Amino acid sequence: MPEGDNVYQAARRMHAALAGKRLAASDFRVPAFATLDLAGWTVLEVVSRGKHLLHRVAPPGSTHDGDGRLSVHSHLSMEGSWQVYGPGERWRKPGHTARAVLTADDGTSAVGFSLGLIEVIATAEEDAAVGHLGPDLLGPGWDPALAEANLRALPERAVGAALLDQRNLAGIGNIYRCELCFLGRVHPATPVAAVPDLPGMVAMAKRLLEANKSRSRNTVGGFGPRNATWVYGRTGQPCLRCRTRIVHGTLAEPLPGTGPLLGETRERDIYWCPNCQPLR
Ligand SMILES: [Zn+2]
Repeated sequence: MPEGDNVYQAARRMHAALAGKRLAASDFRVPAFATLDLAGWTVLEVVSRGKHLLHRVAPPGSTHDGDGRLSVHSHLSMEGSWQVYGPGERWRKPGHTARAVLTADDGTSAVGFSLGLIEVIATAEEDAAVGHLGPDLLGPGWDPALAEANLRALPERAVGAALLDQRNLAGIGNIYRCELCFLGRVHPATPVAAVPDLPGMVAMAKRLLEANKSRSRNTVGGFGPRNATWVYGRTGQPCLRCRTRIVHGTLAEPLPGTGPLLGETRERDIYWCPNCQPLR
C-alpha cells in the first residue's frame, strides 16, 4: 500500500511532466466519466493531499482564476499507481488495469493503473472530496497540534489504528504506522491515552515522511538500519535493538462513524517487538 511519501512523489513526477501543458486527449475508463473529454484543457498543477492525488485542469480559453476548473481526483488504495510515459513508450503495467490516461500535446502521458478511486470534480468543490482529511504530513498546512488533538479525540482507540485513520492526520500507511509504534516503544494496540509521548510520535511521523519523500524507494531510511524496516515484514527475525523475535498479528479497526476511507478500515497486519513494545 502506498504511503503519503509515495503519493507525494507521484504528484511531483506528474506535475513536472504535465504542468503548463495542453491535453491532446483524455481517457477515463470508468463508466461515470467514460464520455468526458478534456482535450484542449490545460494542466495547471498536480498535487497530493494525504494519499489522494489531484490533477487540476483549466478549460480552453479560461482567463479567470477558478473559471470552470476541474480536478481529476484519484486515490491509489492498495494496488494503484500513476506512471508517466514519453511519446510512444510502452506501458509497464497491463493495459486492462488502466483507469485513466491523460495525454499532453507533446505526447507525454500520465496513466493511472488499478486506482482505488477516480473521479472528476469541480476544483472549487475539492473539499467535499478531501476535506475529511486531517493535517497533511507533507502538505503546506501541516499542523502537529491539530493532528495530536485529532488523535486524542478517541482516547481509548488503539494508537496503531488512530495513526492510520487519515481523518486524524494524512499520509501514514501500514508500514509507517508499524515503524512509528516501534520507534515510540508502544504496542500498536495501546490506547491513545496511554501513549507516553504522543507529540513525539507525531513529530516522528513528520520526520519519517519528510526523510523519505524524495527517495526513489519506499524505505524507512534514516531511521531503520541500512534502509531496512525495524519491525515491518520481519516476523521471526531478531529485534534490531534487543534481539527478541519480532511477532506479527492483526489489529481490528472498528471505526466509529466510518467515512469513505477507501479500504483503510480493515484488519491489517501489524508487527512489533514484544520486549521493546509492551502493551500498556
Ligand atoms: Zn526489541
